[in-house]
Amino acid sequence: MVYECCGEKFEKEKEFKKHIRSRYWHRINYSTSTKVLLNRDEVFNIVKNPKLIFGISNLIIPIDQKRAILYLPFKRIKTGTILKRAIIGNLEGPKLDFDMLEYKFNSDKLVYEISFRLKRLTEDQTEVYILSSMAVNIGILGRIMPSEVIKALQSIVTPEILAENLVSNIKSL
Ligand SMILES: [Zn+2]
Repeated sequence: MVYECCGEKFEKEKEFKKHIRSRYWHRINYSTSTKVLLNRDEVFNIVKNPKLIFGISNLIIPIDQKRAILYLPFKRIKTGTILKRAIIGNLEGPKLDFDMLEYKFNSDKLVYEISFRLKRLTEDQTEVYILSSMAVNIGILGRIMPSEVIKALQSIVTPEILAENLVSNIKSL
């Protein structure tokens, strides 16, 4: 298994654990793209509307002008009960930066940034590029116990899950 974190690749778990111990904040990036059968303006109108673009996902749901809820994957505890876990944070955006539409979900120790870039292919075909990143502060416990961090990564919304979820939502429009 190859781990990628903070722009570096780690082929051995031992090396990755050493990297985890080395700092509080870690960053994971993911990028993807998809082709949709809509013209660029139509896609732009969807992507610039946080209620639309995030509302159709079940991961980050805007609750008012400033805040959103991030739903974490279900966790089954020993008794068989399924816990639905959620984090509330600030949702900033969309911010238009040249031809990128940027959003930021910020909740203290966990920050997601999602950027969209649209490319007109034909009159009714648009390529959507999504850049997604997650920055997380693992705290002192994470630095002492890197294996717990690796375990936690399996029950968190990674930038890949988020980006692929947005892709399938955009495709379903
Ligand atoms: Zn890292």
